Amino acid sequence: LRPKRFTYHSVSSISEATALLKELGPNAKILAGGQSLVPLMKLRLVEFEHLVDITALKELRYIRDDGASLQVGALTTHHDLETSLLLRNNSPSLSDAAYVVGDPLIRNRGTIGGVLSHYDPSADYPAVLVSLDATITIASQEDERDLGADGFFEDFFTTQMRPDELLLRVRVPSLQKGEGSAYLKLEKAVGDFAIVGAAAFVQLGPQGRIARMKVALSAVGGRPVVAEEMANSLVGEVPTQKMVEDAAQTILSILTPPSDIRASSAYRREMAVVFARRAVLDAISRAEGKNPVFVAQNQPLRAN
Ligand SMILES: Cc1cc2nc3c(=O)[nH]c(=O)nc-3n(C[C@H](O)[C@H](O)[C@H](O)COP(=O)(O)OP(=O)(O)OC[C@H]3O[C@@H](n4cnc5c(N)ncnc54)[C@H](O)[C@@H]3O)c2cc1C
Repeated sequence: LRPKRFTYHSVSSISEATALLKELGPNAKILAGGQSLVPLMKLRLVEFEHLVDITALKELRYIRDDGASLQVGALTTHHDLETSLLLRNNSPSLSDAAYVVGDPLIRNRGTIGGVLSHYDPSADYPAVLVSLDATITIASQEDERDLGADGFFEDFFTTQMRPDELLLRVRVPSLQKGEGSAYLKLEKAVGDFAIVGAAAFVQLGPQGRIARMKVALSAVGGRPVVAEEMANSLVGEVPTQKMVEDAAQTILSILTPPSDIRASSAYRREMAVVFARRAVLDAISRAEGKNPVFVAQNQPLRAN
């Protein structure tokens, strides 16, 4: 399997990359970790004339704490994310997601910017970013713009980005005392894409009542789905396991997931309820300063 011939460009600055993207237009593709793009090129499912290799842009590989939020550069690998203590302590659901992306080979080379730009709805980060109200920053030769994660993912392999734009970084809130988050994924075997993924953010207020909450699901449609009714029915309550279980049932009325090689629509619906419930319970545990029960990082027998 060989890709169609193309011209290779290696860039050494962000401005060089955006200038080249502007000049070459839709005939150019960016290369980051190559974990999605290269197989597609070899199968000739994607064909283009120019490859713009951004892997030399080390300034796009970082995880930084700016006090209120964490900034993650586009070329930060899944391995960087899963092994970052800063992330584990301040944005645990993003750390949970990195830990379950593909296998170690994918995690060593694949990047967060690649996942978000490629946007496979079964990918792990998108639901996490939506649940955290993250901001995604992209640049063109003319300017930089910030987009909310909620609107960024439009449909299968489609985002708000234009072909002349480069994804620069993601900003997620740094969790404060009384806040917790968790991401859980159902996969057939370790290394698979999700059958369903559930991300939860919870903020506890006085007397342990839920002050704020957001739950988002992946692999259940063309975009991450926000379980609004589930969150609304729990905000203001001192949550019990039974309440969370009942609230998760509301998901059934909003989901019509596709059937595919990984699972039937009916199975996905049932599992979305189970995984949303568990993600919320783990986010609450973390908000209370306790260990989560269900997240993969806490499963010693997961053959990773
Ligand atoms: C076997 C296998 C299993 C996988 N399992 C999972 C999984 O369980 N969960 C999961 O989430 N993902 C999974 N992936 C996908 C993996 O995470 C890839 O790393 C990711 O989709 C692409 O990242 P990349 O850095 O390799 O990007 P590339 O493959 O280099 O690029 C992918 C696309 O994004 C564009 N792009 C890349 N970076 C930028 C940027 N900064 N700005 C603009 N456009 C950009 C490229 O032009 C290309 O169109 C899997 C992939 C494989 C092959």
